[in-house]
Amino acid sequence: KNYHTVLTENKKLYNEVQELKGNIRVYCRIRPFLPGENRKSSTIDYIGEDGELVLVNPSKQGKDGQKMFKFNKVYGPAASQEEVFLDTQPLIRSVLDGYNVCIFAYGQTGSGKTYTMTGPHSPTEEERGVNYRILNDLFHISRTRRDTFMYEVVVQMIEIYNEQVRDLLSNVGIANTSQPNGLAVPDASMHLVQSTSDVMDLMQTGLKNRAMSATALNERSSRSHSIVTVHVRGVDLKTGATLRGSLHLVDLAGSERVDRSEVTGDRLKEAQHINKSLSALGDVIFALSQKSPHVPYRNSKLTQVLQSSLGGHAKTLMFVQINPDAGSYSETLSTLKFAERVSGVELGAARSQK
Ligand code: ADP
Repeated sequence: KNYHTVLTENKKLYNEVQELKGNIRVYCRIRPFLPGENRKSSTIDYIGEDGELVLVNPSKQGKDGQKMFKFNKVYGPAASQEEVFLDTQPLIRSVLDGYNVCIFAYGQTGSGKTYTMTGPHSPTEEERGVNYRILNDLFHISRTRRDTFMYEVVVQMIEIYNEQVRDLLSNVGIANTSQPNGLAVPDASMHLVQSTSDVMDLMQTGLKNRAMSATALNERSSRSHSIVTVHVRGVDLKTGATLRGSLHLVDLAGSERVDRSEVTGDRLKEAQHINKSLSALGDVIFALSQKSPHVPYRNSKLTQVLQSSLGGHAKTLMFVQINPDAGSYSETLSTLKFAERVSGVELGAARSQK
C-alpha cells in the first residue's frame, strides 16, 4: 500500500473525527530552504491539498522511511503570508463576536515561528506576518460595524521565562480602561489602542524590553514564550448589551530537545521549563480535543495564564512550523508527532482500528 491508498482509506474516518473538534485547528507550515541550505535534502516528500504531508527519514530507504500526517492545512514553502493570513480570518470575526481565540506558533528555533507571526526584520508589505494583518482586519471590521457597535480595544504583552511571568509593557504609560484583566496575571498592564499602528508600536516596545534581558550566552527570545493579548469589548448601541472577546497571539519557545548530557546549570533549567510547559500545553489541547472532563491547566504557567481562553467556547489555532532540512529530521518528527497529538487524530492509530 502506498500512502495515497492509506490516505483514501483513512479520509472518511479522519473527517468524522475532525468534525467533532471544530474548535481546535492545526495548520502546518513548511518554510523554504534558506540561502546556504542544501535544497536536495528535504525531508518533506509530499504535500496534499487536504492537509496531508509525508515525512521521509533520510537514512531509511523506501516505505519504511515514510510517515504520513494529516492536519487541517499544510502550507508548502511557496505559500505567501497573505494566503496563511486568509485562513485565520474566520477567527478574527469570532473575536469581535465575543469569543476567545488563541493562535500559537510551535516549532524548533529557526523553523519560521516569528516569520509567520510577525514577519522578517523590517518586512515589506507582502512579508508582514499574521499579527499585523489580523489587527488590521480587526480594526477594519470594527469600523464597518460602527453604526451598531462601539468597540474598545486593549492590549497586553507578557513573557514567560523559566515559569516566571513578566509584563513587557510595564514601562509604558497605563491608560484607563474599564475592562477586566483577561490574563491570569494580576499586575500585567493594559493599554488602550485605536489602530494597528498603536499595537505595532507597543509590540516594538515589548520586543525591546524582551531583548534587553537577553543573556550573552543564548538568545532569550527563543527560550521564552511571548504572548500579545488583544481584548475587545463591544457595546451594542441599540440594546446596550456588552460582549467581550479576546485574541492571544503566542510565539512559543523553541521546541528543540536539548541533550541533557551536554548542558548544565541555567541552560538545563531553561530546557526543563520549556519542555514542561510545551508538554503541558499539548496535554491541555489534547484533553480539550477529546472533550475530557479533566483539563490539566495547573501544570504550567503558560496554561494557567491562558486558562480562560483555552476550552469552553474558545477557539484555538496552532501553526506548526517545519524546517525541511534533512539535518532537522528528528526534530521535525517530534514536532509533527506533537502536532498530531494535539489535533487529536493519529493516522497510525486510526489505521490499526480498521
Ligand atoms: P523561529 O522564530 O522559529 O526561530 P524565524 O521566524 O526566525 O524562526 O525563521 C528563521 C529564518 O527563516 C529567518 O531568517 C526567516 O526570515 C526565514 N523564514 C522563515 N519562514 C520563512 C518563509 N515562509 N519565507 C521566507 N523566509 C522564511
